[in-house]
Amino acid sequence: MNGSAKILVGTIILLVVAGLLFLTLSKKQPETTPEPAPVNEAPAPTPTTTVSVIGKSVEGREIESHVIGNGDTDLLFIGGIHGGYEWNSAELAYEIIDYFDANPNEVPENITIHIIPNLNPDGLHLATGLEGKFTGTDVTSYEMHETGEGRFNSNDVDLNRNFDCRWDPDSTWRGRAVSGGTEPFSEPEAAAIRDYVLAINPVVGVVWHSRANNVYGSECGGEVAENTLALMNAYAEAADYGKVPIFDAYIVTGALEDWMAGRGIASVSVELETRTDSEFERNLRGVKAALELYRK
Ligand SMILES: [Zn+2]
Repeated sequence: MNGSAKILVGTIILLVVAGLLFLTLSKKQPETTPEPAPVNEAPAPTPTTTVSVIGKSVEGREIESHVIGNGDTDLLFIGGIHGGYEWNSAELAYEIIDYFDANPNEVPENITIHIIPNLNPDGLHLATGLEGKFTGTDVTSYEMHETGEGRFNSNDVDLNRNFDCRWDPDSTWRGRAVSGGTEPFSEPEAAAIRDYVLAINPVVGVVWHSRANNVYGSECGGEVAENTLALMNAYAEAADYGKVPIFDAYIVTGALEDWMAGRGIASVSVELETRTDSEFERNLRGVKAALELYRK
């Protein structure tokens, strides 16, 4: 080979080597292969929590509903219907609200919970001086437990005698006469919860009272329904309260729980054991048991 031929061959070899190098580099695979997109592993959106005013008391105090979750199945919990006489039922409701506000993902995806903490704010205020949200409160100096003061609303009506099931204006509570109102839902507090129930159409209605240490089933004429019995059993066993399918110590007229049961709602009264303690841990277990009954 002469000099020019050598240069030509050298150039060709260089071009081939450069071409091979280029092909090798351009085909280089990324060092990590992307993971395939996960299927059904996206985290569920955090349930939303909202507060709304569902009505006002006789004296104009606001009645709130705290709503947590995004599901289509609605569970309703109500505290404070008997005001200051059962102030710990309202305290419990506020503590349950705080718990689920801090742990919204514990509400199953198919469920929304609604908590009315203080259905009788005038009665609560009359007997205890408390207004609005309170927790961790010591009201043990409050001496009116057995007189019933603070139980009624500001029209002196027992709200749990003002609902449209076996309603009677002349009702009783432990052998003493109490007013059921001038007609069913004559009281603004009762009308507010009626309208709310009709709007959300819950599958469960739990009303917290004190202090009989039992969970009572409800009915509005006829047998206690299976859904109510299932709720009573689940809540009572989880929270370690007694179970009483039907309250029969005396005839109760116009009760909220019975009105809800008459609408097909699983409905119970949860009577705390004391009047001075919210019994939070027990009732949190009861609430979670109710959620499990309706989890899908
Ligand atoms: Zn009560």
